[in-house]
Amino acid sequence: MKMSDKKTDKKIKNIPQISLGGIPASPGVVIGKVFLLDNEEFSIPKRKIKERDIAYEIARFEEALIQTRSDILKIQEKISREMDSKHAEIFGAYLLVLEDRMVIEEVISRIKKEKLAVEYVFLDVLKNYAKVFSKIKDQYLKERISDVEDVGKRVLRNLIGKRKDSLLDMKDKVIVVAYDLSPSDTASMHKKNVLGFVTDIGGRTSHTAIMAKSLEIPAVVGLENVTKQTKTGDLLIIDGSSGAVIINPDRKTQDKYLNKIERLEKTGHDLLNLKDLPCQTKDSVKVGLGANIEFPSEVESAIAHGADGIGLYRSEFFYLDKKNLPSEEEQYQAYKDVAQRTKPGLVIVRTMDLGGDKFVSHLEIPYEMNPFLGWRAIRFSLARPEIFKVQLRAILRASAHGNLKIMYPMISGVEEVRQANKILEECKKELQGKKIDFDENIEVGVMIEIPSAAIIADTLAREVKFFSIGTNDLIQYSLAVDRVNEKIAYLYEPSHPAVLRLIKMAIDAGHKNNIWVGMCGEMAGEPHFALILLGLGLDEFSMSPIAIPQIKKIIRSVSFEDAKKIAEKALEFSTSKEVEDFARHQLKKLIPEFFE
Ligand code: PEP
Ligand code: MG
Repeated sequence: MKMSDKKTDKKIKNIPQISLGGIPASPGVVIGKVFLLDNEEFSIPKRKIKERDIAYEIARFEEALIQTRSDILKIQEKISREMDSKHAEIFGAYLLVLEDRMVIEEVISRIKKEKLAVEYVFLDVLKNYAKVFSKIKDQYLKERISDVEDVGKRVLRNLIGKRKDSLLDMKDKVIVVAYDLSPSDTASMHKKNVLGFVTDIGGRTSHTAIMAKSLEIPAVVGLENVTKQTKTGDLLIIDGSSGAVIINPDRKTQDKYLNKIERLEKTGHDLLNLKDLPCQTKDSVKVGLGANIEFPSEVESAIAHGADGIGLYRSEFFYLDKKNLPSEEEQYQAYKDVAQRTKPGLVIVRTMDLGGDKFVSHLEIPYEMNPFLGWRAIRFSLARPEIFKVQLRAILRASAHGNLKIMYPMISGVEEVRQANKILEECKKELQGKKIDFDENIEVGVMIEIPSAAIIADTLAREVKFFSIGTNDLIQYSLAVDRVNEKIAYLYEPSHPAVLRLIKMAIDAGHKNNIWVGMCGEMAGEPHFALILLGLGLDEFSMSPIAIPQIKKIIRSVSFEDAKKIAEKALEFSTSKEVEDFARHQLKKLIPEFFE
């Protein structure tokens, strides 16, 4: 994207530029005009109606519901056609809100009782719902407030005949600025008309951030009040890798970022040329390069960026935004599709990692004071074997069609692996009884993301065929830093000596017991840590597809022997900062163009 419009410069000559810092949600730099997404507040008068108009008001309400349903189905169909069915599934939750009998009956009964116009009653009912939802401590239910509000606005628009500018209808390329973006807004975005987006609220793990990464749209979230500081037509720069956002940048800043975009484009292009070359060091040590995916549709991007397999398939996205639990058949089809498209590359399906910040309301996970330390992941699966077995059977069946592996999340000790494997054996017997094909030798691995697992990695290694280090959680648990809390984000340090030692322990224990050790936490995709991780002996790096080319370049530019020396030196430092500075310095020496 290039913008060298002289007029733009003139217009903003006297407007001071404002620099903001937010949470980087999706990488990439863009410069463009703001499109401030209308935070429409409906002001609806309390209009009295006559007894004889009651039936008419109810009919209007029903008509608006039908119209909204048809609008949503149309959007869902369009997204399914132009993108894929997984992104469109978000709208399933919207249809559920529309069909909520409690809301519908309350509106109809209040119209009859209070003799008020439908718009007013409907808005009031919705407001009360939002109030109730906001008091609920369940994170998943809290997230549903935005679904209810979004659907409510759509119904109101149909009642009063007002249309909202839709992201689907947008013709010009813009940067969307919004207080928050609903999953439907994000799923409607296309790279062709949305250059990027920024929001007042949100965190790294919101649906919105996850969607942005999978759509490869640069985004910064959590800017607090960017919607108050910008207006439609302003010029904006966003850097989704650093979290920098600049409103009405002066010419010098624009030039700086235009250069950066050009450089990134060129580097990105050059790096993609490495796509088909082997991922190995200068002295021919081969390293696995995997992609992390949430949806089957991401396989394409993983391969296009040079992944040789899927190092982490986060299967829990199957369970979110669904009315019912996904069936065995539905899961089987998805795993089979991913396995077939990645073949002969491997696909590591991580069994459901529900709980923590990923809640599914219909599973009735109770409110907990510390959900990250609570009923999460493998703990949930072992407690609900009837749900776990559906997933295991689906993975086993799909294993007949490709190179699938199973990985258990949040393992804290050996018993959990043994219990999970026992359930897996039961599933195998059930399939054998029915003469259903599967890979009898399917390999099972565990995530090393709890400090206890890293410390007893030698014992764990005797139970499994591979490890994958989940640094996102390993860092939060070893440093006691909540991974989604911005206030303590400064303490969330992958380069902390304690983290490095735990990583080393896991790798060494794996190797001593002849199993390979990968990493699927975000740290694996951060360029300045690659040399250290390589030198520590990491066998596989798995990351979001867009991060792959840079890591491949680094691995191909160094010898394993040199990387080992860098890792040894890194382990001698006593602070995170020293490690981080040293790591950056080593990378800069090796590939200066990454820093230009
Ligand atoms: C991790 O914890 O590093 C990981 C990859 O899993 P998730 O981010 O899904 O918790
Ligand atoms: Mg994790």
